[in-house]
Amino acid sequence: MSEVQATTTMEKIVSLAKRRGFIFQSSEIYGGLNSCWDYGPLGVELKNNVKRAWWRKVVQERDDMVGLDASILMHPRVWEASGHVAGFTDPLVDCKVCKQRFRADHIEGDRCPACGGELTEARQFNLMFKTFMGPVEDSAAVVFMRPETAQGIFVNFNNVLTTTRMKLPFGVAQIGKSFRNEITPGNFTFRTREFEQMEIEYFVKPGTDEEIHRQWIEQRFQWYIDLGISKERLRLREHAKDELAHYAKGCYDIEYYFPMGWSELEGIANRTDFDLKRHSEFSGQRLDYFDQESNEHYVPYVIEPSAGADRGTLAFLLDAYHEEPDKDEVRVVLKLHRALAPYKVAILPLSKKEPLVNMAKGIEKELRKYWMVDYDDSKAIGRRYRRQDEIGTPYCVTVDFQSLEDQAVTVRDRDTMEQERVPVAELSKYLWEKLAW
Ligand code: ATP
Repeated sequence: MSEVQATTTMEKIVSLAKRRGFIFQSSEIYGGLNSCWDYGPLGVELKNNVKRAWWRKVVQERDDMVGLDASILMHPRVWEASGHVAGFTDPLVDCKVCKQRFRADHIEGDRCPACGGELTEARQFNLMFKTFMGPVEDSAAVVFMRPETAQGIFVNFNNVLTTTRMKLPFGVAQIGKSFRNEITPGNFTFRTREFEQMEIEYFVKPGTDEEIHRQWIEQRFQWYIDLGISKERLRLREHAKDELAHYAKGCYDIEYYFPMGWSELEGIANRTDFDLKRHSEFSGQRLDYFDQESNEHYVPYVIEPSAGADRGTLAFLLDAYHEEPDKDEVRVVLKLHRALAPYKVAILPLSKKEPLVNMAKGIEKELRKYWMVDYDDSKAIGRRYRRQDEIGTPYCVTVDFQSLEDQAVTVRDRDTMEQERVPVAELSKYLWEKLAW
């Protein structure tokens, strides 16, 4: 038994996410579409903030990284070269009794986990979604929805090299949708058939790959901690040899303790020179690097930190969830890192009448230049604080009758619940300092 505790149950997060507008079932009015989810007004802010925090760390703050946004549909030969047509499969078993399907590598023993019935032999099932390009639906028109963003980076290797003057080691980062026809999606947004990845291909000189692999593992692990995930619910797991993907020399997963147990958040693989060599072979183009120092050509090795934006967002939501005793009730508070919180500030006027509204609206307009701001004037102030706590807003600004006289407002901190009087003229600067990260 693990001693680690999940912060809450998945049911509570699913319910909060729906009630407050983080995540909705896709096509809900038609009964929903299995394993597809829509990010609502707060969810899109949270997920964008996760992606922004990632981009800032791995692109903006580094001089050895650049970005890319490749298309989802690619030449079909890409997936032959990458090995996905032949090898991107999961073993599928069916229960002969209750007809449920399972991934053979996800179940223990040889009986159906649902009813104990006999299972069929495992069949290999390719996870790539197929579609047709153009009006003719024949085999010549088949294209795939990319199952990973990585290949868009490999096929652009020469383009990046010739347009940026990058020198090894350097990397390319990309955020985008990927599609996998998963056999058993589930656990809310943890495993879906359409999801977003945040991937890096970091090109290195062969021989330096193992050391650089270690550095990336450390940095990526620290990123989650810096953004507020508790250390106890994070761990590293090395892949066993028989678990490694067809291209990998070594792989570590960063795992989070989700309500269903330890599960992968991000994989950091050493992909060697597999992809560049294969694309070179299949395309007939030279994909290598000229090292001016040693005066030689070689194919770089690749370290790939590959994270899921949806899984990350779910982990940040779960880890932020706190229930605290508050008099006779319970205060639900999302202690989201300030970089991730959907709204940074809420303006709460104590009256819906002039001239207070005029003042509060003026403050709102000013702060909206810099941050996502909520404005809430309905019901008692205590209720309004609770509503903001529940969605993780770090600061509430209360505009009261005194404000009209002293031109100051009360700023309340979500986590300490302490309140401070701040002159309106200094409010933006005050919040800039508090919200910097
Ligand atoms: P799993 O073993 O859970 O199927 P994987 O090892 O196949 O995952 P990778 O190919 O390493 O996953 O993908 C990199 C990252 O992309 C994962 O760590 C995860 O965050 C995200 N990801 C992969 N598949 C899904 C999915 N079906 N739904 C949501 N996110 C996913």
